[in-house]
Amino acid sequence: MPLQPCPECQTLVSESALLCPKCGRPYPTRKRANKNAETVGGLVVLGIGLAMLAIGVSLRLGPEMMLPCGLLMVIGTAIFKKAVNRKD
Ligand SMILES: [Zn+2]
Repeated sequence: MPLQPCPECQTLVSESALLCPKCGRPYPTRKRANKNAETVGGLVVLGIGLAMLAIGVSLRLGPEMMLPCGLLMVIGTAIFKKAVNRKD
């Protein structure tokens, strides 16, 4: 069974452990799943921004309607980049 260090206390715990035996952190080795979720979340936010922008362009909406779309895309890109660059 592969062991990984707990992110809280660095104790080596089994990948199948539900709790760190030392500090009690839940799912001590589940960081990668969260990273994937964050990556997907960033892409979803980016996609929503793009979709809203496309709708806004097709409906010829003004810049005041486009601003939140651009903002969503920037936020989505930031979340995505942060998740991808995480070192875990
Ligand atoms: Zn721990």
